Amino acid sequence: MLKVRFHGRGGQGAKIASRVLGTAAFLEGYYAQDFPLYGAERRGAPIAAFTRISKEPILERGVISEPDVIVVMDETLLDDPLANPLSGLGKEGLVFINTTHKAEDIKKRYRIDANVLTLDITKISLDILGKPILSALAGGAASKIVRLKETSLKEAVTRELSDITHEKGLIEKNIEASIYCFNALPSVLIKSNASHKKSDVITMPFEAADISSPSVTIPANTPLKKTGNWRIFKPVWDYELCTKCMTCVMRCPDGCIRVNEEGFPYSDYENCKGCMICAEECPAKAIRKEREVHAW
Ligand code: SF4
Ligand code: SF4
Repeated sequence: MLKVRFHGRGGQGAKIASRVLGTAAFLEGYYAQDFPLYGAERRGAPIAAFTRISKEPILERGVISEPDVIVVMDETLLDDPLANPLSGLGKEGLVFINTTHKAEDIKKRYRIDANVLTLDITKISLDILGKPILSALAGGAASKIVRLKETSLKEAVTRELSDITHEKGLIEKNIEASIYCFNALPSVLIKSNASHKKSDVITMPFEAADISSPSVTIPANTPLKKTGNWRIFKPVWDYELCTKCMTCVMRCPDGCIRVNEEGFPYSDYENCKGCMICAEECPAKAIRKEREVHAW
């Protein structure tokens, strides 16, 4: 059995990525399981999703704590101790990371003693789709890593996206983006973790009840936790265009737009999570989005 764990942020498409991979495997005759795990839905919050692929019926249930492959769809999660995306990774495992950095630099910085592949799928998504929705792209990368076929990936993206949109053009672009990622990665040999035990009965590992529940007492949920590092884009104001209508101030879901002494809005970048709702809502188009560069 191969076990794949996806880590992303709410809104990036980790759940659909796990489904694309599961469906592509199913289309090739494998047994497959895919499911997400998240607490209260919140754009930008860390989430995980899981896919199991096997030639035999899968009797295991629950989260994957010892994955063979980890797909990190947002590199800022590597610095988030609560998301802890590298947990359970063995030496034989492989991590795919969406980043502008090289694999060897990532290995050194995060002391990863396993195989690492990197690709800037955010850029590919922006170039092809025009927005950072990464589900089909991460699904394409994962499909290549577990050695599925391009034709299965194409059909899986079509099936999964047809469930959520009727826009044929958008589905076509997602197929193009997923195939681009599939072909951009080298073929690698993934070994299933030897410690995966074969079971004749359905097994369900114990998980603490708070694993996907919001709790104000854990460090990541306190007011002291800054959400500014969740950003892929940051809003930048053009005061030449701004009419001071205050729509952006009212629409920001996190209440992090302030007003300066001249009456112009500005963002508290320590907490702005980069959802870009302010830019979408601004009637004067006075807010542009700039991609964040996560320099070390
Ligand atoms: S300032 Fe804009 S981008 Fe930042 S959290 Fe508020 S609405 Fe989202
Ligand atoms: S919504 Fe646009 S025009 Fe209105 S205050 Fe905000 S930036 Fe200015």
